[in-house]
Amino acid sequence: MPDQPVIYSASLLMPVSGPVIHDGAVLVREGRIESVGTISDLERDNPAAEARHFPQHTIVPGAVNAHAHLGFRHGDAPEGGSFSNWLAGLIARLPEKEAWTAEAARNSAREAIETGTTFMAESSPYGECLPQLAESGMVGTVYAEFFPGDYEEASPEEISNSIVQKVSELRKGLPERVDCQISVHSQYTVDPESSRLAARRARDLGWGLAVHVSESPEEVEFVRDGTGGLTDIFGSNGWGGTGLSPVRYAESIELLAPGTIAAHLATAVSEEDIEVLARTGAAAAHCPRSNEFLNCGVSPVPLMMERGVRVGMGTDGLWSSPSMNLFEETLFAVKLHGFDGATGLELATLGGAGALGIGNETGSLENGKWADLAVVDVLPASGDPAREALEAAAGGGVAATVAGGRLIYNRAES
Ligand SMILES: [Zn+2]
Repeated sequence: MPDQPVIYSASLLMPVSGPVIHDGAVLVREGRIESVGTISDLERDNPAAEARHFPQHTIVPGAVNAHAHLGFRHGDAPEGGSFSNWLAGLIARLPEKEAWTAEAARNSAREAIETGTTFMAESSPYGECLPQLAESGMVGTVYAEFFPGDYEEASPEEISNSIVQKVSELRKGLPERVDCQISVHSQYTVDPESSRLAARRARDLGWGLAVHVSESPEEVEFVRDGTGGLTDIFGSNGWGGTGLSPVRYAESIELLAPGTIAAHLATAVSEEDIEVLARTGAAAAHCPRSNEFLNCGVSPVPLMMERGVRVGMGTDGLWSSPSMNLFEETLFAVKLHGFDGATGLELATLGGAGALGIGNETGSLENGKWADLAVVDVLPASGDPAREALEAAAGGGVAATVAGGRLIYNRAES
């Protein structure tokens, strides 16, 4: 017997892709939105549907987190100061971290859900946080990072084959809409040939690719000059000093393509770099709170958007970011760049979906898309209702979260 259709409704509905609807509703059948309209129209036309009404609330699309790490926790982040100082602290604690990574991933996923996130693009070593994402109720992609330094005496061909094999195995038996793909972690941890081969294999298989690009001043220095704090950590990495910017270098080793989500792009991203991103079709994940914590600068997101680069928002992980609340991350970006609320709400939802290449499946409340939505405890009264919804969601005002038509969080029942 097919699932009974459900009508989710609230005093206000913000589809993002269209005008707001007062007393708005979506009709959901088998996980997807069958129609969007007013409560009275949808209830009249679908008397058999189960009705879930949230009076004095606003329904928005679920947040799409375009770059995150689930396996970190609150309270004991390594010291910031500089990126290389923080990274050295993180690496020193990897052995002890093994004991609690799974629990941290469960908690991070829970926090994301309770703050309205429905789609999570997660990166973790060898996809270690995939089980926790898969069991969370959220949907999303885990990008499995690989580190050639972990492989003894292996060639780039063997290393890229190994990660493709590993990801192929991880992809088996996953819930619907949970996926595993590859991440080339960074330009200072993965050698150029392994990067190039892994990226090519990913494209051949129709998989996306996640990379960290131009995150820190030290990364810029490593790639350009082969010196600096990251060279001190990864002293044996002889491929730095290319004379290129990280974006140009990423292009030269074939990392940039329409299926690529490039995280951060915070330090020293020039107009020429933005042209490269636009020309190659690579998308950006903007993580401004992590960038601030690690003194990495401000990503030129307004100019990227102007030049047609697809941009989504990412929280990064809890060792560089204060929360897994994507709406809070987005409100920070709204203030940083002077965006209006509508631009912010779009970045948090449809922008992220577009950046990840799934803008026809989620990110807005439209017929045929998956019913991924958040119910926010606010009834906007100002001239910028999207900003009010964003502020409420950023401040803990998410009352319920629905992914693929399933209520995965309901504050009233928890
Ligand atoms: Zn990251």
